[in-house]
Amino acid sequence: MILPIYLYGSQVLREKAAEADLDEREELTKLLEDMYETMKNADGCGLAAPQVGRSLRVLIVDGSDLADRYPELADFIRRMINPVFTFKSEEMCTYCEGCLSIPNIDADIERPKVVRIKYIDENFREKEEEFDGFAARMLQHEMDHLDGVVFTDRAAPIRKKMLGSKLNNISKGNVTTSYRVKTDKL
Ligand code: ZN
Repeated sequence: MILPIYLYGSQVLREKAAEADLDEREELTKLLEDMYETMKNADGCGLAAPQVGRSLRVLIVDGSDLADRYPELADFIRRMINPVFTFKSEEMCTYCEGCLSIPNIDADIERPKVVRIKYIDENFREKEEEFDGFAARMLQHEMDHLDGVVFTDRAAPIRKKMLGSKLNNISKGNVTTSYRVKTDKL
């Protein structure tokens, strides 16, 4: 089921999401399916549960549409429940980011280049993996959503200032998207 995506300015995007209850397997499996369908419908490469109005520590990423630029991502799909960082490199790197909750805006964001994450996968098995490059980038962006942080919070002050009125418009729902969106007011 395709769900509406909550826009910048929605309260749920600013909350610290709760740990998912691993006993609720059926519900979590359904949530992961709905999130995947919602993300693909919106041509996104990542989505966190708060973006569909569920304040839970659940995220998905899919790099297949980015394979032109990043061939290593052709088969890169992860579904993560209750992910936690176990390592962040001191080495940083910068990529241009965007977000389905903040349509038509992008910004260069600096983050650690390599991260390691411990998580529960879609088969409810515990895993720990290291990610580098754009895969690490996508995951850090989605992990931020679980703590109520959006990428524009991390933009350079001057860029943030330039984006101010656009962000304000988005929070009022004054934005055109190819997918269904929601704000606290809409
Ligand atoms: Zn996002």
